[in-house]
Amino acid sequence: MNFNSLGLSDLILQSITDKGYTEPSPIQAQAIPAVLSGKDVLAAAQTGTGKTAGFTLPILQQISSKPRPKGKRKIKALILTPTRELAAQVGESVRTYGSNLDINSCIIFGGVSARPQISQIRAGVDILIATPGRLLDLQNQGIIDLGSLDTFVLDEADRMLDMGFIHDIRKINRVIPRQRQTLMFSATFSTEILELTKEFLDQPIYVQVAPRNTTAENVNQLMYRTPKSRKTALLKHLISTGNWDQVLVFTRTKHGANRLSDKLNRAKITSMPIHGNKSQNARVKALEGFKSKEIKVLVATDIAARGLDIKQLPHVVNFELPNVPEDYVHRIGRTARAGADGYAVSLVDQEEVKFLRSIERLLDQKIPEGKLSNFDFTVTKQDEEEPRRVNFNRGRKPFKKSPNKKNKTTRNKPTKR
Ligand code: AMP
Repeated sequence: MNFNSLGLSDLILQSITDKGYTEPSPIQAQAIPAVLSGKDVLAAAQTGTGKTAGFTLPILQQISSKPRPKGKRKIKALILTPTRELAAQVGESVRTYGSNLDINSCIIFGGVSARPQISQIRAGVDILIATPGRLLDLQNQGIIDLGSLDTFVLDEADRMLDMGFIHDIRKINRVIPRQRQTLMFSATFSTEILELTKEFLDQPIYVQVAPRNTTAENVNQLMYRTPKSRKTALLKHLISTGNWDQVLVFTRTKHGANRLSDKLNRAKITSMPIHGNKSQNARVKALEGFKSKEIKVLVATDIAARGLDIKQLPHVVNFELPNVPEDYVHRIGRTARAGADGYAVSLVDQEEVKFLRSIERLLDQKIPEGKLSNFDFTVTKQDEEEPRRVNFNRGRKPFKKSPNKKNKTTRNKPTKR
Protein backbone atom coordinates (compact mmCIF):
# COMPACT_ATOMS: atom_id res chain seq x y z
CA MET A 1 0.00 0.00 0.00
CA ASN A 2 1.16 3.54 -0.60
CA PHE A 3 -0.01 6.94 0.56
CA ASN A 4 -1.54 7.84 -2.83
CA SER A 5 -4.63 5.73 -2.26
CA LEU A 6 -5.61 7.30 1.06
CA GLY A 7 -7.38 10.40 -0.22
CA LEU A 8 -4.71 12.98 0.61
CA SER A 9 -3.94 15.96 -1.63
CA ASP A 10 -0.79 16.26 -3.72
CA LEU A 11 0.54 19.01 -1.47
CA ILE A 12 0.23 16.79 1.58
CA LEU A 13 1.68 13.81 -0.29
CA GLN A 14 4.63 16.00 -1.20
CA SER A 15 5.39 16.71 2.46
CA ILE A 16 5.14 12.99 3.24
CA THR A 17 7.65 12.25 0.48
CA ASP A 18 9.90 15.06 1.74
CA LYS A 19 9.79 13.47 5.18
CA GLY A 20 11.01 10.23 3.60
CA TYR A 21 7.99 8.01 4.32
CA THR A 22 7.36 5.50 1.58
CA GLU A 23 4.33 3.66 2.90
CA PRO A 24 1.72 4.27 5.57
CA SER A 25 2.12 2.44 8.86
CA PRO A 26 -0.77 0.03 9.67
CA ILE A 27 -2.45 2.56 11.97
CA GLN A 28 -2.18 5.26 9.29
CA ALA A 29 -3.62 2.96 6.62
CA GLN A 30 -6.68 2.44 8.79
CA ALA A 31 -7.04 5.76 10.57
CA ILE A 32 -6.59 8.16 7.65
CA PRO A 33 -9.62 6.94 5.62
CA ALA A 34 -11.64 6.59 8.83
CA VAL A 35 -10.98 10.21 9.81
CA LEU A 36 -11.63 11.42 6.25
CA SER A 37 -15.04 9.71 6.34
CA GLY A 38 -16.03 12.34 8.89
CA LYS A 39 -17.08 9.81 11.54
CA ASP A 40 -15.80 9.67 15.09
CA VAL A 41 -12.79 7.41 15.49
CA LEU A 42 -11.54 5.42 18.42
CA ALA A 43 -8.01 4.21 17.83
CA ALA A 44 -5.95 1.81 19.88
CA ALA A 45 -2.41 2.88 19.17
CA GLN A 46 0.63 3.68 21.16
CA THR A 47 3.58 5.94 20.54
CA GLY A 48 5.87 4.53 17.89
CA THR A 49 3.09 3.27 15.62
CA GLY A 50 2.93 6.47 13.56
CA LYS A 51 -0.36 7.48 15.21
CA THR A 52 0.43 11.21 15.09
CA ALA A 53 0.42 11.29 11.31
CA GLY A 54 -2.63 9.03 11.51
CA PHE A 55 -4.69 11.97 12.72
CA THR A 56 -2.71 15.05 11.64
CA LEU A 57 -2.63 14.14 7.92
CA PRO A 58 -6.42 13.73 7.52
CA ILE A 59 -7.09 16.83 9.64
CA LEU A 60 -4.80 18.86 7.39
CA GLN A 61 -6.61 17.37 4.40
CA GLN A 62 -10.02 18.29 5.77
CA ILE A 63 -9.09 21.87 6.64
CA SER A 64 -7.18 22.58 3.45
CA SER A 65 -9.88 21.18 1.19
CA LYS A 66 -12.56 23.58 2.47
CA PRO A 67 -12.61 27.21 1.36
CA ARG A 68 -11.53 29.42 4.25
CA PRO A 69 -14.11 32.08 5.12
CA LYS A 70 -12.92 35.68 4.90
CA GLY A 71 -11.65 37.35 8.04
CA LYS A 72 -9.61 36.04 10.93
CA ARG A 73 -8.86 32.33 11.01
CA LYS A 74 -10.98 30.36 13.46
CA ILE A 75 -9.80 27.29 15.34
CA LYS A 76 -11.03 24.31 13.32
CA ALA A 77 -9.18 21.50 15.08
CA LEU A 78 -8.14 21.11 18.70
CA ILE A 79 -5.61 18.42 19.60
CA LEU A 80 -5.41 17.80 23.32
CA THR A 81 -2.33 16.03 24.72
CA PRO A 82 -1.44 15.08 28.30
CA THR A 83 2.10 16.46 28.34
CA ARG A 84 4.02 19.44 27.08
CA GLU A 85 6.52 17.24 25.29
CA LEU A 86 3.81 15.45 23.39
CA ALA A 87 2.13 18.77 22.52
CA ALA A 88 5.46 20.01 21.14
CA GLN A 89 5.98 16.82 19.13
CA VAL A 90 2.45 16.79 17.71
CA GLY A 91 2.79 20.50 16.90
CA GLU A 92 6.01 19.78 15.07
CA SER A 93 4.28 17.06 13.03
CA VAL A 94 1.43 19.42 12.11
CA ARG A 95 3.99 21.95 10.90
CA THR A 96 6.00 19.42 8.94
CA TYR A 97 3.08 17.71 7.22
CA GLY A 98 1.34 21.04 6.61
CA SER A 99 4.43 22.85 5.34
CA ASN A 100 3.00 23.21 1.81
CA LEU A 101 -0.42 24.37 2.99
CA ASP A 102 -1.86 27.70 4.09
CA ILE A 103 -2.59 26.50 7.61
CA ASN A 104 -1.61 28.14 10.87
CA SER A 105 -1.06 26.07 13.97
CA CYS A 106 -0.16 26.96 17.50
CA ILE A 107 1.07 24.93 20.46
CA ILE A 108 0.09 25.98 23.95
CA PHE A 109 1.13 24.49 27.27
CA GLY A 110 1.83 25.65 30.79
CA GLY A 111 5.14 26.20 32.53
CA VAL A 112 6.20 28.91 30.07
CA SER A 113 5.04 32.47 29.53
CA ALA A 114 1.59 32.66 27.96
CA ARG A 115 2.32 35.92 26.14
CA PRO A 116 3.81 34.56 22.89
CA GLN A 117 1.06 31.92 22.79
CA ILE A 118 -1.59 34.61 23.20
CA SER A 119 -0.21 36.73 20.38
CA GLN A 120 -0.15 33.71 18.06
CA ILE A 121 -3.74 32.88 18.91
CA ARG A 122 -4.81 36.49 18.38
CA ALA A 123 -3.19 36.44 14.94
CA GLY A 124 -5.48 33.56 13.94
CA VAL A 125 -5.00 29.82 14.17
CA ASP A 126 -6.53 26.87 12.29
CA ILE A 127 -5.15 24.03 14.42
CA LEU A 128 -4.52 24.34 18.14
CA ILE A 129 -2.41 21.79 20.00
CA ALA A 130 -2.78 22.13 23.74
CA THR A 131 -2.42 20.62 27.17
CA PRO A 132 -5.64 20.91 29.19
CA GLY A 133 -4.55 23.37 31.92
CA ARG A 134 -3.26 26.17 29.71
CA LEU A 135 -6.11 25.70 27.27
CA LEU A 136 -8.73 26.21 29.97
CA ASP A 137 -6.80 29.10 31.41
CA LEU A 138 -6.77 30.99 28.10
CA GLN A 139 -10.30 29.94 27.29
CA ASN A 140 -11.53 31.31 30.63
CA GLN A 141 -9.79 34.58 29.89
CA GLY A 142 -11.72 34.80 26.64
CA ILE A 143 -8.56 34.57 24.54
CA ILE A 144 -9.48 31.28 22.91
CA ASP A 145 -12.75 30.78 21.09
CA LEU A 146 -13.54 27.14 20.35
CA GLY A 147 -17.00 27.84 18.94
CA SER A 148 -16.05 27.03 15.32
CA LEU A 149 -14.32 23.75 16.06
CA ASP A 150 -14.91 20.89 13.61
CA THR A 151 -12.49 18.31 15.01
CA PHE A 152 -11.53 17.43 18.56
CA VAL A 153 -8.65 15.02 19.17
CA LEU A 154 -7.86 13.38 22.49
CA ASP A 155 -4.34 12.04 22.10
CA GLU A 156 -3.08 9.49 24.64
CA ALA A 157 -6.44 9.56 26.38
CA ASP A 158 -5.39 6.80 28.80
CA ARG A 159 -2.51 8.93 30.02
CA MET A 160 -4.80 11.93 30.40
CA LEU A 161 -7.01 9.93 32.72
CA ASP A 162 -3.96 8.66 34.64
CA MET A 163 -2.86 12.22 35.12
CA GLY A 164 -6.22 13.26 36.49
CA PHE A 165 -7.35 15.40 33.55
CA ILE A 166 -10.87 14.01 33.38
CA HIS A 167 -12.47 17.12 34.91
CA ASP A 168 -10.57 19.40 32.56
CA ILE A 169 -11.59 17.29 29.57
CA ARG A 170 -15.22 17.53 30.66
CA LYS A 171 -14.92 21.30 31.01
CA ILE A 172 -13.44 21.52 27.52
CA ASN A 173 -16.20 19.32 26.18
CA ARG A 174 -18.75 21.84 27.48
CA VAL A 175 -17.25 24.73 25.53
CA ILE A 176 -16.84 23.06 22.15
CA PRO A 177 -19.64 22.51 19.64
CA ARG A 178 -21.70 19.35 20.03
CA GLN A 179 -21.68 18.90 16.28
CA ARG A 180 -18.11 17.93 15.63
CA GLN A 181 -15.87 15.01 14.84
CA THR A 182 -14.07 13.45 17.79
CA LEU A 183 -10.98 11.28 17.51
CA MET A 184 -9.66 9.45 20.51
CA PHE A 185 -6.29 7.70 20.64
CA SER A 186 -5.34 5.50 23.54
CA ALA A 187 -2.67 2.86 24.08
CA THR A 188 -4.82 0.81 26.40
CA PHE A 189 -8.55 0.30 26.81
CA SER A 190 -9.54 0.31 30.43
CA THR A 191 -13.11 0.51 31.68
CA GLU A 192 -12.56 4.24 32.25
CA ILE A 193 -11.53 4.71 28.64
CA LEU A 194 -14.58 2.89 27.40
CA GLU A 195 -16.75 5.08 29.61
CA LEU A 196 -15.03 8.16 28.22
CA THR A 197 -15.77 6.86 24.74
CA LYS A 198 -19.48 6.68 25.54
CA GLU A 199 -19.38 10.21 26.91
CA PHE A 200 -17.51 11.89 24.07
CA LEU A 201 -17.80 9.81 20.92
CA ASP A 202 -20.77 9.03 18.73
CA GLN A 203 -20.82 5.60 17.07
CA PRO A 204 -17.09 5.63 16.46
CA ILE A 205 -15.18 3.63 13.88
CA TYR A 206 -12.84 1.41 15.84
CA VAL A 207 -9.28 1.22 14.58
CA GLN A 208 -6.74 -1.13 16.05
CA VAL A 209 -3.34 -2.46 15.17
CA ALA A 210 -1.48 -5.15 17.05
CA PRO A 211 0.45 -3.36 19.77
CA ARG A 212 3.86 -3.56 18.19
CA ASN A 213 5.67 -3.97 21.44
CA THR A 214 3.67 -6.65 23.15
CA THR A 215 5.48 -9.00 20.79
CA ALA A 216 8.66 -6.98 21.36
CA GLU A 217 10.28 -8.58 18.35
CA ASN A 218 13.39 -6.48 18.24
CA VAL A 219 13.70 -5.87 21.96
CA ASN A 220 16.14 -8.06 23.78
CA GLN A 221 14.72 -8.28 27.25
CA LEU A 222 16.75 -9.28 30.24
CA MET A 223 16.38 -9.06 33.97
CA TYR A 224 18.80 -9.23 36.88
CA ARG A 225 17.74 -10.24 40.34
CA THR A 226 19.44 -7.93 42.76
CA PRO A 227 19.10 -6.61 46.30
CA LYS A 228 17.49 -3.18 46.21
CA SER A 229 20.56 -1.50 47.70
CA ARG A 230 22.85 -2.89 44.95
CA LYS A 231 20.80 -1.46 42.11
CA THR A 232 22.78 1.78 41.69
CA ALA A 233 26.09 -0.08 41.70
CA LEU A 234 24.71 -2.60 39.22
CA LEU A 235 23.45 0.13 36.91
CA LYS A 236 26.84 1.88 37.01
CA HIS A 237 28.51 -1.44 36.28
CA LEU A 238 26.27 -2.20 33.29
CA ILE A 239 26.76 1.28 31.84
CA SER A 240 30.53 1.28 32.18
CA THR A 241 31.30 -2.32 31.21
CA GLY A 242 28.86 -2.22 28.30
CA ASN A 243 30.04 1.23 27.15
CA TRP A 244 26.42 2.34 26.98
CA ASP A 245 26.22 5.90 25.76
CA GLN A 246 22.48 6.56 25.68
CA VAL A 247 20.33 4.99 28.36
CA LEU A 248 16.80 5.79 29.39
CA VAL A 249 16.31 4.69 32.99
CA PHE A 250 12.89 4.44 34.60
CA THR A 251 12.15 5.01 38.24
CA ARG A 252 8.74 4.94 39.83
CA THR A 253 8.90 8.26 41.59
CA LYS A 254 10.12 11.77 40.87
CA HIS A 255 12.31 11.79 43.97
CA GLY A 256 13.73 8.44 42.98
CA ALA A 257 14.63 9.91 39.58
CA ASN A 258 16.34 12.91 41.20
CA ARG A 259 18.26 10.76 43.66
CA LEU A 260 19.48 8.29 41.07
CA SER A 261 20.49 11.04 38.67
CA ASP A 262 22.53 12.72 41.45
CA LYS A 263 24.28 9.46 42.26
CA LEU A 264 25.19 8.82 38.62
CA ASN A 265 26.55 12.33 38.21
CA ARG A 266 28.68 11.86 41.32
CA ALA A 267 30.05 8.71 39.66
CA LYS A 268 30.90 10.85 36.58
CA ILE A 269 28.14 9.33 34.49
CA THR A 270 26.36 12.34 33.01
CA SER A 271 22.69 12.22 33.84
CA MET A 272 19.56 14.35 34.16
CA PRO A 273 16.15 13.56 35.60
CA ILE A 274 12.97 14.25 33.63
CA HIS A 275 9.61 14.32 35.36
CA GLY A 276 6.53 16.37 36.01
CA ASN A 277 8.12 18.59 38.68
CA LYS A 278 10.75 19.86 36.27
CA SER A 279 10.23 23.17 34.54
CA GLN A 280 9.63 23.18 30.83
CA ASN A 281 13.12 24.58 30.26
CA ALA A 282 14.73 21.89 32.37
CA ARG A 283 12.86 19.17 30.48
CA VAL A 284 13.78 20.56 27.07
CA LYS A 285 17.40 20.92 28.19
CA ALA A 286 17.49 17.34 29.47
CA LEU A 287 15.97 15.97 26.28
CA GLU A 288 18.25 17.95 24.00
CA GLY A 289 21.33 16.94 25.99
CA PHE A 290 20.25 13.33 25.80
CA LYS A 291 19.55 13.39 22.09
CA SER A 292 22.93 14.97 21.37
CA LYS A 293 24.55 12.39 23.70
CA GLU A 294 26.02 15.03 26.00
CA ILE A 295 23.96 13.34 28.68
CA LYS A 296 24.36 9.60 28.86
CA VAL A 297 21.51 8.77 31.14
CA LEU A 298 18.05 10.24 31.25
CA VAL A 299 16.26 9.17 34.41
CA ALA A 300 12.53 9.39 33.85
CA THR A 301 9.18 8.62 35.39
CA ASP A 302 6.61 6.92 33.17
CA ILE A 303 4.52 9.98 32.54
CA ALA A 304 7.46 12.17 31.59
CA ALA A 305 8.83 9.56 29.22
CA ARG A 306 5.56 8.93 27.48
CA GLY A 307 5.52 10.30 23.96
CA LEU A 308 9.19 11.21 23.85
CA ASP A 309 10.26 10.63 20.30
CA ILE A 310 13.82 9.49 20.71
CA LYS A 311 14.85 7.47 17.73
CA GLN A 312 16.55 4.10 18.02
CA LEU A 313 17.28 4.23 21.68
CA PRO A 314 19.66 1.34 22.34
CA HIS A 315 19.13 0.82 26.09
CA VAL A 316 16.20 1.09 28.41
CA VAL A 317 16.63 0.17 32.05
CA ASN A 318 13.83 -0.46 34.49
CA PHE A 319 15.57 0.60 37.66
CA GLU A 320 12.29 -0.21 39.33
CA LEU A 321 9.59 -2.27 37.71
CA PRO A 322 6.26 -0.55 37.17
CA ASN A 323 3.36 -1.90 39.20
CA VAL A 324 1.08 -1.57 36.16
CA PRO A 325 2.27 -4.23 33.69
CA GLU A 326 1.15 -2.22 30.62
CA ASP A 327 3.64 0.46 31.61
CA TYR A 328 6.43 -2.06 31.09
CA VAL A 329 5.31 -2.44 27.49
CA HIS A 330 5.32 1.34 27.03
CA ARG A 331 8.74 1.60 28.60
CA ILE A 332 10.42 -1.03 26.48
CA GLY A 333 8.68 0.50 23.47
CA ARG A 334 11.21 3.32 23.81
CA THR A 335 13.89 1.03 22.47
CA ALA A 336 14.31 -0.83 19.19
CA ARG A 337 12.19 1.65 17.27
CA ALA A 338 12.24 1.70 13.49
CA GLY A 339 13.47 -1.86 13.29
CA ALA A 340 16.72 -1.33 15.19
CA ASP A 341 17.75 -3.72 17.93
CA GLY A 342 17.38 -2.60 21.49
CA TYR A 343 17.96 -3.84 24.98
CA ALA A 344 15.53 -3.57 27.85
CA VAL A 345 17.10 -4.48 31.16
CA SER A 346 15.16 -4.76 34.40
CA LEU A 347 16.69 -4.67 37.86
CA VAL A 348 14.37 -6.72 40.03
CA ASP A 349 14.52 -6.87 43.80
CA GLN A 350 12.68 -9.32 46.03
CA GLU A 351 9.67 -7.06 46.49
CA GLU A 352 9.24 -6.63 42.76
CA VAL A 353 9.04 -10.31 41.82
CA LYS A 354 5.23 -10.05 41.91
CA PHE A 355 5.34 -7.19 39.38
CA LEU A 356 7.67 -9.26 37.22
CA ARG A 357 5.18 -12.12 37.25
CA SER A 358 2.28 -9.88 36.13
CA ILE A 359 4.43 -8.47 33.33
CA GLU A 360 5.34 -11.96 32.18
CA ARG A 361 1.67 -12.93 32.27
CA LEU A 362 0.74 -9.91 30.14
CA LEU A 363 3.50 -10.59 27.62
CA ASP A 364 2.89 -14.32 27.80
CA GLN A 365 6.60 -14.86 27.87
CA LYS A 366 9.31 -15.30 30.44
CA ILE A 367 11.88 -12.57 30.66
CA PRO A 368 15.30 -14.26 30.63
CA GLU A 369 17.48 -13.80 33.68
CA GLY A 370 20.95 -12.41 33.04
CA LYS A 371 24.03 -13.64 34.88
CA LEU A 372 27.05 -11.51 35.65
CA SER A 373 30.28 -13.14 36.68
CA ASN A 374 32.11 -9.86 37.17
CA PHE A 375 29.65 -8.13 39.50
CA ASP A 376 29.29 -8.80 43.19
CA PHE A 377 25.65 -8.68 44.31
CA THR A 378 26.59 -8.83 48.00
CA VAL A 379 25.34 -5.81 49.91
CA THR A 380 28.23 -3.74 51.21
CA LYS A 381 28.31 -1.32 54.11
CA GLN A 382 28.50 1.54 51.63
CA ASP A 383 25.27 0.41 49.96
CA GLU A 384 23.50 0.46 53.29
CA GLU A 385 24.55 4.00 54.13
CA GLU A 386 21.74 6.50 54.16
CA PRO A 387 21.76 8.36 50.83
CA ARG A 388 22.73 12.01 51.03
CA ARG A 389 19.55 13.99 51.37
CA VAL A 390 18.84 17.31 49.79
CA ASN A 391 16.51 19.49 51.76
CA PHE A 392 13.81 20.40 49.26
CA ASN A 393 11.72 21.98 51.99
CA ARG A 394 14.23 24.51 53.15
CA GLY A 395 12.37 27.56 54.36
CA ARG A 396 8.98 25.88 54.02
CA LYS A 397 6.68 24.62 56.66
CA PRO A 398 7.53 20.98 57.42
CA PHE A 399 4.82 18.55 56.43
CA LYS A 400 3.81 15.46 58.28
CA LYS A 401 4.02 12.17 56.48
CA SER A 402 0.90 10.14 56.91
CA PRO A 403 1.85 6.67 58.19
CA ASN A 404 -1.05 5.19 56.18
CA LYS A 405 0.35 6.43 52.93
CA LYS A 406 3.47 4.34 53.23
CA ASN A 407 3.51 1.28 50.98
CA LYS A 408 -0.03 1.97 49.93
CA THR A 409 0.61 0.97 46.35
CA THR A 410 -1.45 -1.80 44.89
CA ARG A 411 -0.98 -3.63 41.67
CA ASN A 412 -3.89 -1.98 39.98
CA LYS A 413 -3.38 1.49 41.25
CA PRO A 414 -0.43 3.33 39.74
CA THR A 415 1.78 5.21 42.14
CA LYS A 416 1.75 8.96 41.74
CA ARG A 417 4.42 9.82 39.24
P1 AMP B 1 4.36 8.37 16.46
O1 AMP B 1 3.82 7.01 16.81
O2 AMP B 1 3.34 9.24 15.81
O3 AMP B 1 5.00 9.02 17.66
O4 AMP B 1 5.50 8.18 15.35
C1 AMP B 1 6.66 7.47 15.62
C2 AMP B 1 7.76 7.74 14.63
O5 AMP B 1 7.47 7.15 13.37
C3 AMP B 1 8.03 9.20 14.35
O6 AMP B 1 9.42 9.41 14.41
C4 AMP B 1 7.53 9.43 12.94
O7 AMP B 1 8.28 10.43 12.29
C5 AMP B 1 7.73 8.07 12.31
N1 AMP B 1 6.74 7.75 11.24
C6 AMP B 1 5.44 8.05 11.22
N2 AMP B 1 4.85 7.58 10.11
C7 AMP B 1 5.81 6.96 9.39
C8 AMP B 1 5.81 6.26 8.13
N3 AMP B 1 4.71 6.10 7.41
N4 AMP B 1 6.99 5.75 7.69
C9 AMP B 1 8.11 5.89 8.45
N5 AMP B 1 8.18 6.54 9.65
C10 AMP B 1 7.03 7.06 10.12
